[in-house]
Amino acid sequence: MSNDPKTQPRYSGIPTFMRTPYTTDLSAIDIALIGVPFDGGVTNRTGTRHGPREVRNQSSLMRTINQATGIAPFELARVGDIGDALPDNPFELIASHKAIQSFFEPVKTAGVLPLSAGGDHSITLPILRAIAKDGPVALVHFDAHCDTGDDYLGSKFHHGSPFKIAAEEGLIDPEKTIQIGIRGGITDREQWKFSYDSGMRVIHIEEFYDMGVDAVIDEIHKVVGDSPVYVTFDVDGLDPVYAPGTGTPEVGGFTSFEAQKMLRSLADLHIIGGDVVEVSPPFDPSGVTALVGATMMFEILCVMSESLRRRKHD
Ligand code: MN
Ligand code: MN
Repeated sequence: MSNDPKTQPRYSGIPTFMRTPYTTDLSAIDIALIGVPFDGGVTNRTGTRHGPREVRNQSSLMRTINQATGIAPFELARVGDIGDALPDNPFELIASHKAIQSFFEPVKTAGVLPLSAGGDHSITLPILRAIAKDGPVALVHFDAHCDTGDDYLGSKFHHGSPFKIAAEEGLIDPEKTIQIGIRGGITDREQWKFSYDSGMRVIHIEEFYDMGVDAVIDEIHKVVGDSPVYVTFDVDGLDPVYAPGTGTPEVGGFTSFEAQKMLRSLADLHIIGGDVVEVSPPFDPSGVTALVGATMMFEILCVMSESLRRRKHD
């Protein structure tokens, strides 16, 4: 299959991510596009298990060159779709996280960078367990929620807690973690206490607009520096005008263009992986949320491929 729209019309063929070749040969690729169709960790509206398929569908609209940055990711890196990290026991949360981790471990061992589509945000924890084995990594986290909550309804593991557990397990360095777009109602004034107490840089949406997007970009670079960094993009960070199809929407978010601007600034970071999560097709009848998810995935792919090229050549 070709992802060149000049040779194959984009409405045709089997919809792999961005019409990249489907492969299970990890030696043939530098960057793996992966679906994680799991939503056993949601606290409210479900449906993100359908995310990867719809993101694959909408991602056929992606082209080959980023018009804003000039980056042509498929020229800089060998990119393939390696299928879905599908848990065998999807009704068992902890077993599912284990299965997701097992899928990503050989990817890490092969030196391939993963870029995934969820799934609810709980999937980022097993991904980090697989790929942050060499010590805590930095984290750039776009979201309406800090996802550093405590136990909920008797479970430690859910989509509101992955980054508390990741910090406790030494997978991420809280002082090299930045969370952008935080807002919405809370049920406990101390809901995101862990983020503050552990030293994460939390940019609520009010501060985001007071600072302006360029100052937020500077802040990302200040927090992360040259550390290996994972990029996680929860589509509910966007205003629901741009991403209505998600489980826990919060009004008053950043725009899709502001998100693109922030993601495009990450090319000079040492990126080791990324994901786009919380696209919920049952709440997305127009498909726009899956399109925005696919587009953010393409933006991350661009900066990831540039980051990889620089590391190979410098
Ligand atoms: Mn989240
Ligand atoms: Mn969220």
